Amino acid sequence: MRVVTSDIELQQVISELSKGNARVGFVPTMGALHEGHIQLVKQCHEENDVTVVSIFVNPKQFNNKEDFDKYPITVEQDKHMLENAFCDVLFLPTVDVVYPEKYKTVQVNLGILDKVFEGPQRPGHFDGVIQVVKRLFEMVQPHVAYFGFKDFQQCMVVKVLRNTFFPKLELRFSETIRQKDGLAMSSRNMRLSAVGLEKATHIYKALKMVRELKKHIEPFDALKYARHILTQNGIEVEYLALANADTLIESKKWLRKDKNVVLVAAWVEGVRLIDNIIF
Ligand code: AMP
Repeated sequence: MRVVTSDIELQQVISELSKGNARVGFVPTMGALHEGHIQLVKQCHEENDVTVVSIFVNPKQFNNKEDFDKYPITVEQDKHMLENAFCDVLFLPTVDVVYPEKYKTVQVNLGILDKVFEGPQRPGHFDGVIQVVKRLFEMVQPHVAYFGFKDFQQCMVVKVLRNTFFPKLELRFSETIRQKDGLAMSSRNMRLSAVGLEKATHIYKALKMVRELKKHIEPFDALKYARHILTQNGIEVEYLALANADTLIESKKWLRKDKNVVLVAAWVEGVRLIDNIIF
């Protein structure tokens, strides 16, 4: 695996490896890698000739300074995991490489996407995501890029970015990878104690309960029960809602098969976790 830190070096290595016409797949990450990231990297390796992974903790997408300061950094371990997952190029840019002095912020009309759920809770977050993903796509110039449904709203934002600036780029979205106990894998889980990790398992349990209750009761009551499970287990719920999986418009009624998405953001031991379930 080649490790590069500048955009010039990155393009040199990619063109060397791809000899002109290879298919380049790209997995952007913020590091502190876990099995959720690694599944994306393995899928990328299976479907492309050259697999590029970036690790960059993007300051622009953190609205909370403490969250940014405490974001786990485990680069040496990440490198081992990436080698084992057949990553060809690891791109480790600095802030100056991603946002050079001449860099101009882009504006993208996200419609309701930055006005619901994560949007109002994390002001500026999706704008930061837009800036970093656009710059990374420009530097890597992939044929296809991989994202996880764990960050469902982010996937929708990235689709808008692709449609606006990169119409030829293919996007792949993958299922959320979970621990055996159902907890969605996340770099932020590293900040939880054993007790916190146990508590956090109730997040997916609550989501599955909503899915189960669809057969019996209206969304309002299903969500009320799920919220109750969470608060009873010492989890502070920021939002828990049903939305249309195509539009992210909140829904008071159950929708057609595969159009229901229940999204949750919740706090455990001062760590903000998000998850969702589609059914
Ligand atoms: P992050 O490093 O958190 O920015 O995540 C990098 C990519 O990995 C994003 O596309 C995430 O949606 C994806 N990802 C993170 N956790 C998981 C997971 N548990 N399962 C699948 N994909 C994930």
